[in-house]
Amino acid sequence: MQHLAQTCELDFQQRSGALMMFRTSRELELAQPMMELLGEIGGRHELLDIEAARQLEPALSTETAFHSALYIPDDWSGNCPLFVRQMKSLAQDKGVEFHFNTEVQAIRPEIGGVSFQVEGRSIDTDAVVVAAGSDSVRLLKAIGISLPLYPVKVYSASTPIQEYELAPQLSVFDDTYRVGLTRLGKRIRIAGCAELGSSSFDLNQKAVNTLVKVGDDWFPNAANYRTASFWCGPAAMLPEGVPLLGATRYSNVFINTGHGAGAWALAAGSGKLMADLISQKRTEIDMDGLTLTRYGDRMR
Ligand SMILES: Cc1cc2nc3c(=O)[nH]c(=O)nc-3n(C[C@H](O)[C@H](O)[C@H](O)COP(=O)(O)OP(=O)(O)OC[C@H]3O[C@@H](n4cnc5c(N)ncnc54)[C@H](O)[C@@H]3O)c2cc1C
Repeated sequence: MQHLAQTCELDFQQRSGALMMFRTSRELELAQPMMELLGEIGGRHELLDIEAARQLEPALSTETAFHSALYIPDDWSGNCPLFVRQMKSLAQDKGVEFHFNTEVQAIRPEIGGVSFQVEGRSIDTDAVVVAAGSDSVRLLKAIGISLPLYPVKVYSASTPIQEYELAPQLSVFDDTYRVGLTRLGKRIRIAGCAELGSSSFDLNQKAVNTLVKVGDDWFPNAANYRTASFWCGPAAMLPEGVPLLGATRYSNVFINTGHGAGAWALAAGSGKLMADLISQKRTEIDMDGLTLTRYGDRMR
């Protein structure tokens, strides 16, 4: 993603550094495998006691007790919708056409090509990439490919900063509630929660209350979290937690879905792999474990 930002001169990245808050010693214990993995992949990290954590992030509320915090200096955060808007305009400059509010009803693989049904019309094309989030299941099932893909609803709240001195400098992740809190320009964005199996856009009050609680717990006077703009949407999740990418048994139908919690962080790398595969170039990483063969499905 950072490479993409540099090569395409995109400006969506905000700041780096994250603090993962452990409220109890048990949470720290459960985080050991994650910390070991960070070490194995060379990710810089430092376990901080309460005093050191407060020195690094002085705006942390003194009212909320915690056991320790993990500092990850190279973690970074950015504005996902801003990135998407910038990518859209770059793509349009290169001739890409977008058709919003246009539902693909079916995909029809044919010998030497593929077509898709949209608004009662059949459109022929060279190749199709199914990247329809959790709706990918329906489109693929109709051509005989079954996926264990489920929607998991995630939530976010965005609210203007009222007191800049009291707002976070680092991204803060609350390990108890699995909710992250980040300063994005003049706003604070709180995101997380996971509602299994739901693809509706209705806000669940319990999830909204959790986001507000996390804001109030760590940075109570930085903003009014109750009047935030709340949003929720389905993320497509697979049991293994890694996305499903690549070819199918049909030579012109490809899949790019199931990014789950990795979501945006996996988007650019997945897109690059797909572009290389479709243009029959060598992929930069081994595709083993990422393709349909992990479900015993054959590929072309
Ligand atoms: C406001 C906002 C903020 C976000 N912030 C973050 C963030 O900070 N960090 C992060 O990791 N992720 C974030 N995300 C999520 C992330 O951008 C993506 O949702 C994630 O990368 C998954 O992308 P996707 O394209 O695979 O699936 P989706 O985002 O679910 O997109 C699938 C698309 O396919 C369309 N579709 C489905 N069926 C059909 C059909 N039959 N015909 C035509 N179209 C169809 C859907 O309408 C949808 O537009 C954010 C999303 C939004 C909206």
